[in-house]
Parts: sequence; structure tokens; C-alpha cells
Amino acid sequence: MVKVPETAASAPLFDYAPAPESRAIVDIRSSYGLFVDGEFVDGQGSSFKTVNPATEEVLSEVAEASDADVDAAVKAARRAHSRVWGRMSGRERAKYLYRIARIIQERAREIAVLETLDNGKPIKESRDVDVPTAAAHFFYYAGWADKLEYAVPGNGAPQSLGVAGQVIPWNFPLLMLAWKIAPALAAGNTVVLKPAETTPLTALLFAEICQQADLPPGVVNIVTGAGATGQALVAHPDVDKVAFTGSTEVGRRIARTVAGTDKKVTLELGGKAANIVFEDAPVDQAVEGIVTGIFFNQGHVCCAGSRLLVQESVAEEVLDRLKRRMATLRVGDPLDKNTDVGAINSAEQLARITELARVGEDEVGTTGGAGRWSPPCDLPERGFWFPPTVFTGVSQAHRIAREEIFGPVLSVLTFRTATEAVEKANNTPFGLSAGVWTEKGSRILWMANQLRAGVVWANTFNKFDPTSPFGGYKESGYGREGGRHGLEGYLK
Ligand code: NAD
Repeated sequence: MVKVPETAASAPLFDYAPAPESRAIVDIRSSYGLFVDGEFVDGQGSSFKTVNPATEEVLSEVAEASDADVDAAVKAARRAHSRVWGRMSGRERAKYLYRIARIIQERAREIAVLETLDNGKPIKESRDVDVPTAAAHFFYYAGWADKLEYAVPGNGAPQSLGVAGQVIPWNFPLLMLAWKIAPALAAGNTVVLKPAETTPLTALLFAEICQQADLPPGVVNIVTGAGATGQALVAHPDVDKVAFTGSTEVGRRIARTVAGTDKKVTLELGGKAANIVFEDAPVDQAVEGIVTGIFFNQGHVCCAGSRLLVQESVAEEVLDRLKRRMATLRVGDPLDKNTDVGAINSAEQLARITELARVGEDEVGTTGGAGRWSPPCDLPERGFWFPPTVFTGVSQAHRIAREEIFGPVLSVLTFRTATEAVEKANNTPFGLSAGVWTEKGSRILWMANQLRAGVVWANTFNKFDPTSPFGGYKESGYGREGGRHGLEGYLK
């Protein structure tokens, strides 16, 4: 165990007995091919390893799809669209979606353990958030499949687009897959999806679920690989719709690739959300919301509340209680049901977080209450770990306040008036989400109107629901996923 230096905090209140979830329920193959036209096939390209970020153990060897493999997957999707799925009634399509949703529920424990092994997130999150919310997306969109004429106003039932090429990141591997695949299929499209290179395993398990659900071959195709595979997919001339979730940098590149084509595009990109706490907020609840906002999923959340804006009059009290709460967070084995903060997903991501935190340390200095703070916690020696961290004395010009860190690192800024809070919250190139903590309903409504963010949570944070549209302003992207709005991007 490596001791994180104790800077100021109370010792843990009491010890827990470890309660690790068994991994016996998952059966990980030593190697995986691509899922094309309803079958697992060998790729024509090379392969790559996927590792457990909590232990660095190699979990499996996965095929890296070449341009030719991507082409075969797009062709399979096109055939399935023109011969079967695009012609099937919405009512029939819904049956498959319901079936998939039920199988996800039936295999929930297996999926949750696999997600935690491949991603590093705590089992209580994959078990209680990722997997049930993924199933909920399939249930929700199954309900829309035969009601599309009500989803998009116009004459009669709107038509599907054809083949959707979808590229997703590693932070919510199965949930992002569900956000992409469920509305696409409900609207009558077929898909080729590329999961992130560090977290391909639950997408491959989902391929098995498609087989189990008797989904017609070619309706869902999974091509694994890294950026080059994603690039081949979004640039493929026979893809009608590109749906991407990931970094703003790659989103820009994709926008350039598809510019001038008639492909429809939705981009769900990065964020730097403000979590705004007013002096009349219930402090204990707000502290829970701050913790959920930035330490849920190790802060690997596009809409993470990575900037805490706290009213000056209560800043000291909020910070004090926040530190006490942070000292009770358990960091460690993601399979342990007690764990609150799991492993960082990859060595590359850990290096990025470490570097930006180092910059932040130089930026804020150590005078006038400013500084970097983490509770004392034991980090495992193997694997990729970063302790929950808070920076005080942050100003708007600091990189730590402007750049997405995508890790368990919170920047604290203060404000005096609501107008100043809005001005600071909106002073970012991103615009994905925000949180407001206050007892005053009228202030919540006023703030929600002023904040340039796609989602504004009031007295809560990081709540996801399939009925609710999600998406960004400015450099956080365009288009919406979730809700009725999520269907629009998949219909003519
Ligand atoms: P990333 O952009 O590096 O990768 C995302 C996906 O794109 C991966 O599957 C990757 O292989 C693929 N890719 C890489 N280069 C590509 C290219 N040139 N063409 C096509 N595909 C390419 O992002 P990441 O590090 O995996 O994920 C973290 C980012 O995702 C963060 O910025 C986060 O905010 C964002 N994100 C956004 C949302 C949202 O809904 N707005 C949700 C989750 C994550």
C-alpha cells in the first residue's frame, strides 16, 4: 500500500470488512473477434489487449477492426436495413427491444461485474446505475417504436435514416451503448457501433445478448478498435448517421470529416460543469451533491460538477464539511461493495489527471487558504489510482478551472451574488450541465434560464433518466440524446 500524505483530515470513522463481489459469474474469453452480420468473426486487422485498470491484469485480446472489417460491418447493416429492419413494423421492432431490455435485467449481475472489471468503476455504480439505466433506455425506446408519428411532428410516420455509425467513450461503456443503440433501433435504423479501446467487453457481451434475443443478423454490428477504426466508420460513404460521444478534440475532427456530406450528426462532447451552492442551501445535502457531482465514477463523467461555485458567506463551512465527508470515501478494489471511488480507467488517463493536478498546484499556490488537499487514503500498489482531490483558491484564469480534467479533482471558486455566479458558471467554452443548490424556487428558475448548459439540476446532481433529453451547448456538442428528442436524430 502507498500512503497518501496526510495534510489535514480526521482519520476514517470506522473500519469496514471487505465485501468483494465474486467474478465467477463472468466468463471472459481469451480472445474476441468482431460482431458482424449476427456472428463473431475474425478481424482482418491485428488485435489489442484490454486490461483491468485496478490490477493491470490482461482480461482478453480483442480484434482491431481494419477498414475492410468496417466496410463489411456497414454492408451487413445496410442489407439488414433494406431487407428486414427498415421494413418491419414499429410494433415488431419493439418486441426485440423489450426482449433485449429484459435480458439485460436477467444478466444484470454478470454485466455489472464485467463492466467493473474492464472499466474500474465501483461495483455499486455498475450494479445500481449503469446496468439498470441501460435496461431502462431499451424499455423506454421500445415504447416509442410504434409511435414515431408522435415523436416528430409531420405527415404520417417518419422514415428511418438507414445505417448509423456510432462511436462511444470508455466512461459508461454499456450505458453509452444503450443511449446510442436503443433510439436508433426504435426508429428503424441499423447500427455499427465502435466501443472505446479500453472498454470493449460489455459491448461484446451485448453482441451475445443480441444473439440471445434473436435480433435479425446485421441489425447490430460491433467493431472493436481504436481511433483509426472510429475514423473509418464515421468516414464510410454508406453511413447515413454519425453519433459520437467523446472528447471535444475528436468531435471537431469528426465534424470536419463529415462536413460537406449529407450525413446527419450528433456530437456529445466534453464539459466543465459548475455546481453552484447558495448560502440558503441545505448544506449536508449540498455536500452530498458535490461529492456525487465530482467523485461518482472517479469523475470520469462528461457532466461532472468539476467547478464548485460556493457563496462566500458559507464557503468555509461548506469546505469544512466537504473535507470531512471526503475523508469517509473509500478508494480501492472496484469489486468491493463498500468502494466509493474505483480505479482510473487507464495509465494514459491517470497521466493526464496527474499532470493537470500538478499544474493546478503551481497555479493556486499555498497562501490565503489556497492549496491542494486529499484525505489520507491507502492506494493499492498495482493499477491506476488517484485520490479524491480538492483545489481551493482557484481563479477563473487557472487551467484547472477551464480544462476538463475527467478525474476525481474538484476546483473551488467563490461568488457573492447570483449574477456573479452566472457569469462565472458561463465563463467556459463548454455548456453541458450545471447544478444549483438553494431553497428558493424562483432563484432556481432564474438560474436555469441564465445558465448556458444543456442540463441544469436543482438540489441534486448527476441524475439520468431515459425520458429526459441530454446534450450540450457550445463546445459540448450538438443534438440531444434521451427522451423524445433522442429520436429526432435518427429519423428523416
Ligand atoms: P475520445 O474522444 O478520446 O474517444 C472517444 C471515442 O472516439 C473512442 O471510442 C475512440 O476510440 C474514438 N476515436 C478516437 N479518435 C477518433 C477519430 N479520429 N475518429 C473517430 N473516432 C475516434 O474520448 P474518451 O477519452 O474516450 O472519453 C472522454 C471524453 O468523452 C470526455 O471529453 C468526456 O467529456 C466525453 N464524454 C461526453 C459525454 C456526453 O454525453 N457529452 C458522455 C461521456 C463522455
